[in-house]
Amino acid sequence: MKILLAEDDDLGRQSLARILRKMGHIICEAKNSHDLLRQVDESIDLIMLDLKLSPIDSSTVIEQVRQNQDLRQPIIAMTGLSPGEIKKAELFDKILFKPLKVESVVAAILSMHCPSCCGVLKTTINKNEYMCEDCNVKWQISAEKNEVTT
Ligand SMILES: [Zn+2]
Repeated sequence: MKILLAEDDDLGRQSLARILRKMGHIICEAKNSHDLLRQVDESIDLIMLDLKLSPIDSSTVIEQVRQNQDLRQPIIAMTGLSPGEIKKAELFDKILFKPLKVESVVAAILSMHCPSCCGVLKTTINKNEYMCEDCNVKWQISAEKNEVTT
C-alpha cells in the first residue's frame, strides 16, 4: 500500500516510516501540511497524519483534501491529545493516541485494506472483522498477535 505519512516531528515520522516500510508499504513522508497537500493524489491508498500539523492545521488540510472528489482514501489521525480535546473527529476514519503502539498502528492499517486484493474500501462486519466489497474476502484481526485470518 502507498501511505502518505505526515508528521512534523522528524524522529517520530522516521521511526514510524521505518516500521511501515518493513511491513512492505511504500511511504511518502510529509513534514508539514504544505508537504502533505503537495504529495496527496489518487495513487495514495492511505493518509496518516499528526493532528498538530502546521502551517495549515490538520482538520483544515483534510477538509481541503476531501473537497477533491477523487481523493477518498481513508485517513488515520495520530495525536498526543486526549479523546475529549479532539475537534472534528468525524473527519478521520481512525484516531490513534500517542504514545503509538506498533500493534495498534498495524491493526489500524489492516482494518483499512483487503489482505487479498489490497483494495482500501471495505465493510466492517463488527469489531475486528472485515469484508472486502470487491472480492468478498472476510478477515479478522488480532491486535495482540498482529495476525490476519481470512
Ligand atoms: Zn479484496
